[in-house]
Amino acid sequence: MSLGMENLRALVLNSTYEPLQFSTAKRALVLSLLGKAEVLEVDGFIVRTSVREYRLPTVIRLNRYIKMPRRSCVSFSKKNVFRRDNYTCQYCGGGLEMTIDHVIPRSVGGRSTWDNIVTACRKCNLKKGSRTPEEAGMKLLMRPKQPQFLFHSNISSIAPQSHVDSWTKYISNSDKVKAVTKL
Ligand SMILES: [Zn+2]
Repeated sequence: MSLGMENLRALVLNSTYEPLQFSTAKRALVLSLLGKAEVLEVDGFIVRTSVREYRLPTVIRLNRYIKMPRRSCVSFSKKNVFRRDNYTCQYCGGGLEMTIDHVIPRSVGGRSTWDNIVTACRKCNLKKGSRTPEEAGMKLLMRPKQPQFLFHSNISSIAPQSHVDSWTKYISNSDKVKAVTKL
């Protein structure tokens, strides 16, 4: 089953659809063939055995719930805030000239923490100024939280864009995920 596809990864979800980790796509296929997981997403990549061919999964969901140990949290940085928010303005959903916005402005005591910092495009940031979203008549797309799962750039950089797209569906907007990336 080696067709030079060792670098392909699959996102493994818990039975609750929470992201757990990345595994090799081949391992994900084996788990599904063993009946331990169901395949949620596939891509155009195929492996052949002498008997038949299989489409390599990009996302699988485990049939049994796995309890994950607590791991260290994602460190707070501007880059990780951008990654958490998918490089998308949390006010207008746009994606140009990203800046960091304090939801509760610093001038009234807003702190630089995961739950008070969001990605904002320059335009929205200027419009909001040093006001709260309510005062500015602006609405956040999501309540910001400390993420517990982020793509490591080394995973997305070696993955085909179609893989990254299928993973994003299960990772973005999931503010309750308790997982770590693991190669
Ligand atoms: Zn914006």
